[in-house]
Amino acid sequence: MLTTLVRAGIVLLAFSTSTLAEPMKVTLLGTGVPTPRPTSFSASTLVEAGSEKLLFDLGRGSTMQLYKLKIPLGAITANFITHLHSDLVGLPDMWLTGWLATPWASRKGPMKLYGPKGTVATTENLTKAFADDIRIRIDDEHLDPVGITFAAKDIEAGTVYDSNGVKVTAIEVNHGEKIKPSFGYVVEYGGHKVVLSGDTKYDERIAKAAEGADLLIHEVAVIEPELLVKNPVYKDIQAHHTSPEEAGRIFATARPKLAVYSHIVFGTVKPAPDIPEEPLILRTRATYKGPLLVGRDMMSFRIGDMVEAFAPDGTNLAP
Ligand SMILES: [Zn+2]
Repeated sequence: MLTTLVRAGIVLLAFSTSTLAEPMKVTLLGTGVPTPRPTSFSASTLVEAGSEKLLFDLGRGSTMQLYKLKIPLGAITANFITHLHSDLVGLPDMWLTGWLATPWASRKGPMKLYGPKGTVATTENLTKAFADDIRIRIDDEHLDPVGITFAAKDIEAGTVYDSNGVKVTAIEVNHGEKIKPSFGYVVEYGGHKVVLSGDTKYDERIAKAAEGADLLIHEVAVIEPELLVKNPVYKDIQAHHTSPEEAGRIFATARPKLAVYSHIVFGTVKPAPDIPEEPLILRTRATYKGPLLVGRDMMSFRIGDMVEAFAPDGTNLAP
């Protein structure tokens, strides 16, 4: 809001700092894991800040969610991946489909992609894998070859992106010894801060990075004890992730304005159609009493003077 003060004939224009930048908007495109579950696509988060549209992780279904939001795939200004597990299986879709010369795609320049060591090699191998499609579409549909190139970078912890007032910092997290490095990300714009944990075990570096954050999006795993006995693979899976009690400790230390779960790993003995919210919240409440939401695909957040949350149907949620 612009306030005009007239004092002794001098006109002063006063801005409140928070109005200098428009609110950030965050949308959970996918809140799940590689399980092909139609109600929770694998993790992908869209952060809109000023003129930037940043995508964090490229889970299966991220192209479809952007289509629903009427955001052309080509409008994404930069993409970030947290680690090289197959959670990023939506990458070839975003890359190839985003290149098509249609109103809902039309990427004009190289696809900007930041991620841990191995990211550049992944893009080189994808380019080899889809060489025939690329050749055919350039020849047949006269697509601009620039749009199917990557501007990819293997990153280290620290500032990895700074553009149009939006700064992205990578923080190393602990997703286990065999998948290193794995990153979380801090996005800052207009005095606001959004933190994404990426895939990680309990890691205090996230709590530190998220101190004073407006929004902390954290992964979590909740697996029924009986299932851990029945199928030992779930033990390995659980060992790479954060329990609700541990996530609660991170939230309690960081004290974000709002904590949200996304990338929700769950395992139940009887197949469950959807994320069992109640045990997740109950277990988190053992260590954290503050504002908390269990993320759902297409849940969104507006971050201005306050943090507002919206259900997938647009209704305002009071966390
Ligand atoms: Zn992972």
